[in-house]
Amino acid sequence: MQQVKVVDGGFSTQLATHVGDIIDGDPLWTARFLVTNPNAIISTHLDFLKAGSDIILTNTYQASIDGFTKYMNIKEEESLNLFSKAVDYAKEAINLYKKDIKNKANIVNANPLIAGSVGPYGACLHDASEYSGKYCSDVSQEILMNWHRPRIQKLIDNGVHMLAIETIPCKQEAEALIKLLKEFPNSKAWLSFSCSCDGKSIADGSNFHDVAMWCYKEALPEQILAIGVNCIAPQNVTPLLKRINEDKQEFVPLVVYPNSGEKYTIKHGWMKKEEEYSLHEFIHEWLNLGVRYIGGCCRTNATDVKKIRAEVEKWKNQLNA
Ligand SMILES: [Zn+2]
Repeated sequence: MQQVKVVDGGFSTQLATHVGDIIDGDPLWTARFLVTNPNAIISTHLDFLKAGSDIILTNTYQASIDGFTKYMNIKEEESLNLFSKAVDYAKEAINLYKKDIKNKANIVNANPLIAGSVGPYGACLHDASEYSGKYCSDVSQEILMNWHRPRIQKLIDNGVHMLAIETIPCKQEAEALIKLLKEFPNSKAWLSFSCSCDGKSIADGSNFHDVAMWCYKEALPEQILAIGVNCIAPQNVTPLLKRINEDKQEFVPLVVYPNSGEKYTIKHGWMKKEEEYSLHEFIHEWLNLGVRYIGGCCRTNATDVKKIRAEVEKWKNQLNA
């Protein structure tokens, strides 16, 4: 059976433990710290590694050339360089971690990997449209491809092991990304969608199962490591995923990293959840559905990753028992 990989948690949530609560509301979000506080970025990665992550994501979700130019007056070449630096900081954290575990026994994540985080075009509009996908009908496939291409290129050139294409809210952008990935035939990626809470749709209203499976099949063979969902309340995950491996004809690996269940609005920030669900209570259920990459998104931290790791180990032991 394909191994289960534990991903990290919400980068901004963990970063806040190092820099204070000054991240949400910034148009560059955590990407600003690539310029202002590299040490905090390295420490954040390190927290997740120590908590048991097999894969850490670069701090590039909301990084874009236009964003750095607009909000920090940084020119194109230097903006692109920040993507390289983001990969370097992840590598540095792994080096520190490996030194730290050198003489320790029973380390479950001794050789962690780096995934280059590729957030949607909508994240950089800074209007929460990655949760609605409302920009998608106004932006052409060509614009989306041209906008994503240099970011993906830089991440790949700097040696990420895979891409984490995440929080994609609309069909058009997913299709544009699958087309763009063909320009990088040696790269591998997971494709994770921003979904509505109706149990069947991605944020723009398209059918999740159909779009995700189309992308999986349309991509180059073995280029897509997994399809799935992130930044969604834990209780809304299973209805979306359960159809994919139902017929058992071809196993499709899934990726899940939900948020804590709180809801984000531009006006009020993160709002407390109405129902008390913890993502940890669903982990075995998701692994049984075929989830092979599992972590946390916004409002989850290193302590959550530690609990995810423990649940994954428990599940593996039960299988082997
Ligand atoms: Zn999130």
